[in-house]
Amino acid sequence: EKSPLDILNNLNIKHPFYSYSTGQEKKYCKETNRRIITSPVDGSEIGEIGFIANEDYENVLTTAEKAFQQWRTIPAPRRGEIVRLLGDELRKEKEPLGALISFEMGKSLQEGYGEVQEMIDICEFATGLSRQLYGLQIQSERPAHRLFEQWHPLGIVGVISAFNFPVAVWAWNIAIALVCGNVCIWKPSEKTPFASIACQEIFAKILKRNNLPEGISSLVLGDAEIGKKMADDKRIPLISATGSTSMGRDVAQRVGKRLGKSILELGGNNAIILYEHSDIENSLPSLVFGAIGTAGQRCTSTRRVIVQEKIYDDFLNKLKDAFSQIRIGNPLDEENHMGPLIDKEAVENYFSTIELAKKQGAKIVSGAKTVLVENNCSQCYITPTIIVAKSDLEVMKTETFAPIVYVTKYKSLSEAIKINNNVPQGLSSALFSLSLREVENFLSSEGSDCGIANINIGTSGAEIGGAFGGEKDTGGGRESGSDAWKSYMRRQTCTVNYGTELPLAQGIKFNL
Ligand code: NAD
Repeated sequence: EKSPLDILNNLNIKHPFYSYSTGQEKKYCKETNRRIITSPVDGSEIGEIGFIANEDYENVLTTAEKAFQQWRTIPAPRRGEIVRLLGDELRKEKEPLGALISFEMGKSLQEGYGEVQEMIDICEFATGLSRQLYGLQIQSERPAHRLFEQWHPLGIVGVISAFNFPVAVWAWNIAIALVCGNVCIWKPSEKTPFASIACQEIFAKILKRNNLPEGISSLVLGDAEIGKKMADDKRIPLISATGSTSMGRDVAQRVGKRLGKSILELGGNNAIILYEHSDIENSLPSLVFGAIGTAGQRCTSTRRVIVQEKIYDDFLNKLKDAFSQIRIGNPLDEENHMGPLIDKEAVENYFSTIELAKKQGAKIVSGAKTVLVENNCSQCYITPTIIVAKSDLEVMKTETFAPIVYVTKYKSLSEAIKINNNVPQGLSSALFSLSLREVENFLSSEGSDCGIANINIGTSGAEIGGAFGGEKDTGGGRESGSDAWKSYMRRQTCTVNYGTELPLAQGIKFNL
């Protein structure tokens, strides 16, 4: 009989900087700062972790600083080779790791596998990138001068990640950061530490086999306090933080105060616009997946649907029908579409948002219930909920991490774009339309103000090849593909004079 904890048991982990235990074996857990981690799937105890102690944090920093001295001298394509090995190993561990992610976080098993696949993909992308960290050659205005720019690593990259993608966000960061010559310190969400322990151990073994210092990748377990400490720490030139907008605001201020760099990947409030000539049948599966995938706990989850008034009634009926068919239950059972929310606090949030929407005049069309799942004591299962709302509903402007979809009406596309943009967040957006004019308007500078703008596909499920991130309260950071790597490096502009004269720029004469 397979268990979602198999991968942890097989890795046989003993590490001085972090401590954890599963089942009977409590020996690695330190006495202080312990936290018991339970699964939202069935409420059972996964294990216990110890938050990192101050002296261990210092050890991690010193180990990382030392590792950077060596790692930065290794040619980038060689570094890419090590990242490729991480991808290879993740491919081998895809099933057990996917199962652990699903069990610890509550997303469906397919989404757990999908998360590991995303890690494999970014490793491959980064391996290719390791030969393409191009700098520009620029024409110099001075004779016998060469002007060019090159890119150097920054040093330690601190990665702070959220519970909903417990390990993929680490991979997006570490794969790119490493080929760029940096080393990483990862503080995962305190809600999902076990999947991160597994990933860290998988990579630690690769480093060891290749005689590379372990400080190339470090893990620190802890809560917001450790995150704040990293954000304040001048020895970490770049903090890449994924999580809520309030967390990002705090991190930005701490890092900004010491003039460090940050990449912020924060909350979203993503809308799909359905134009009257859109293909509703086709749009429905991606819309429903966008709303209920990961139980509405993706930063790119579809939270609002803005529907042209002529097709509004027809669409609402179809959506109600589709939601009624969602099978809710144990996410490790592949028959089910949707698993639980992460914890009871998230369930409370879900219900209080629905209450607030009612108070503000919105109508609950379906859902708003808890679901009793057999042999289960997590109490984290709820139904997806449809709320019909006027476009100015206040609560619709906030991100609630749950499967709640607000449906609102519009007449003209310009009105729909206005509704789309009239929220503080700016991550993902989508238009379903077969009209070229509507499509190009939506993508124009007067269109969607989000970092991601899709046509005839939903808001969630970005590919790693593109730069990922959003504007406004989403934080403005970009990760993953395209030229997002530039945020992980420092740019150096160089001028070489290979002539016998020393002309000054701007034609300045300076005779001594
Ligand atoms: P969270 O903000 O509660 O926690 C995220 C991480 O930040 C955790 O590791 C936490 O310990 C740490 N943290 C919290 N406060 C901190 C502080 N003041 N200083 C430093 N670290 C701090 O978020 P969550 O509930 O784990 O995740 C859900 C949120 O993450 C949602 O808002 C979601 O939209 C967002 N998210 C965004 C993206 C993206 O790419 N834009 C991706 C995934 C999740």
